[in-house]
Amino acid sequence: MNIDVGPKEDRHLLTGLHTIADIYCADCREVLGWKYERAYRATEKYKEGKFIFEKSKIVKENW
Ligand SMILES: [Zn+2]
Repeated sequence: MNIDVGPKEDRHLLTGLHTIADIYCADCREVLGWKYERAYRATEKYKEGKFIFEKSKIVKENW
């Protein structure tokens, strides 16, 4: 997939503090979702390196 990753930033989510980066479509620059760069809670570590796509955007992109 053609994506760019934006700058990392710390964000407080319901599941605790995470370092995340927005991901963009490389063609049209639309924000597609985000990537978990770092999770601070041990129980959230499995998210590190994972990409989260907002489903509505994916549908729009592919159809
Ligand atoms: Zn696009």
